[in-house]
Amino acid sequence: MAEKKRKIVVLGGGYGGVECTRKLEEYFKNDDDIEIVLISEDNFLLFTPMLPQVAAGMLATRHIVMPIRTIIHKTTFYEGRVKNIDPYGKIVNLWGTNEKRGVSIHYDFLVVSLGSETNFFGMSDVEKHAYTIKNLNDAMTIRNRVIDMLEQAENESNPILRKSLLTFVIVGGGFAGIETAGELMDLLLDARKYYPKIKKNEIKVIVLEALPNILPGFSEKLAKFAYNLLTKHGIEIKLKTAVTSFNGNEIMVKKIDGSSEKEDSSDRESIQTRTMIWTAGVTPVNTIKRSMFKTERGKIIVNDYLEVVDFPGVFAIGDCALFIDQSTKRPFAPTAQLAEAQAKTAAHNLHALIRNEKMKKFEYESRGQMAIIGKRNGVASIFGMNISGIWAWALWRNVYISKIPKWDKRLRVLLDWTIDMFFDRDISRLKFSDRETKKEYKVLDEVDDVW
Ligand SMILES: Cc1cc2nc3c(=O)[nH]c(=O)nc-3n(C[C@H](O)[C@H](O)[C@H](O)COP(=O)(O)OP(=O)(O)OC[C@H]3O[C@@H](n4cnc5c(N)ncnc54)[C@H](O)[C@@H]3O)c2cc1C
Repeated sequence: MAEKKRKIVVLGGGYGGVECTRKLEEYFKNDDDIEIVLISEDNFLLFTPMLPQVAAGMLATRHIVMPIRTIIHKTTFYEGRVKNIDPYGKIVNLWGTNEKRGVSIHYDFLVVSLGSETNFFGMSDVEKHAYTIKNLNDAMTIRNRVIDMLEQAENESNPILRKSLLTFVIVGGGFAGIETAGELMDLLLDARKYYPKIKKNEIKVIVLEALPNILPGFSEKLAKFAYNLLTKHGIEIKLKTAVTSFNGNEIMVKKIDGSSEKEDSSDRESIQTRTMIWTAGVTPVNTIKRSMFKTERGKIIVNDYLEVVDFPGVFAIGDCALFIDQSTKRPFAPTAQLAEAQAKTAAHNLHALIRNEKMKKFEYESRGQMAIIGKRNGVASIFGMNISGIWAWALWRNVYISKIPKWDKRLRVLLDWTIDMFFDRDISRLKFSDRETKKEYKVLDEVDDVW
């Protein structure tokens, strides 16, 4: 009798999920008794470090996504949204939609890499009015919003409204916030030449950061360099400043000084703006928070081998997993680099588990960090070396272009970058078509009704 195939199911088509699937394919390339399944909501891998450049109109949208089916070879791919995971029955349930039935997929081994979503820290008004930069749609929306604000401001005679239209606030001084601020300023300055009534000094880009420094994770010297450069570029950075509310027109902020015990009104300030981009934190997706896995601050607790506590054969990696850095006793910062490193260890350990070999502990040493801070400028801390300016910018481009897995996409990105050096940005504001309705996820009974 033919031996029953054992099924490894990977959840999430981001950095962790795709890298893990690729490694599993390598490990099991000659094993016909192993079936690999990858499930993700989108059928592409999104290259997040380049999202701010899409938001600024430098890169075309499709150039920073890689269709998953072109990366995988022997894996079965499901485009679908995970509804829940039953680790006792070893089943993953997918939502149905108007077009598609929900399905239940059995697994023998599972890798969870469902990433994270924006954390608004319970501020529902901010969630309602702010823009985010987490996916392609966000990046396109921001680009259109910025151009729309220029269009509105150009012919606006009310000075208060004009000021508010031309003020863009980015909350969060991490990677995403700083890179978005730099790129946005470049877009605004480039586009301005087509809006003759808008003066350079009318455009304001403000970064709000609750910590005393931007770019946590970088050395103090590099963070200071980035701060000075952004400021020189006209970007205002307000440190130790936390947002308390935003109603779509006005942001209320409070100074976090730490020195005074009592709060007084001088600690508070308001900023008039129509555009706030929120990058101030991430939290694991709801599917994880509602799951039966043990979590802390929403993240799945894993052991030294990245196996989920109480569920042998189930691994969690990337932004949704909680792994403590023993040197700092704090969780590692959620990065693509970490997700990929964990993906490699999880694939190795799955192979070892299936072959009855010894698993290895996850050990991680960051290779460094890099950020682009506007035109031809960057900061990088790599293999213990600090680099800044044009060299860091060139390094960023080299490293990230080499990380794109397909040559056609690499060339498209290179071409976009080259064109951007010689030509102005496109300022057409695109309206999204209403034809494509948002997917409505349904529970099975409703789906059965549809069918
Ligand atoms: C603007 C921006 C810039 C960044 N820049 C950098 C950088 O320069 N360097 C760096 O190292 N990191 C950077 N990051 C962080 C990096 O993108 C993440 O740490 C990394 O993507 C984490 O990988 P992951 O696999 O855990 O999650 P993701 O890459 O987020 O993948 C999760 C996947 O799961 C899918 N998914 C989620 N829920 C469901 C569900 N219920 N059902 C089905 N599928 C689901 C998602 O669609 C996604 O495909 C940046 C992030 C952003 C947003």
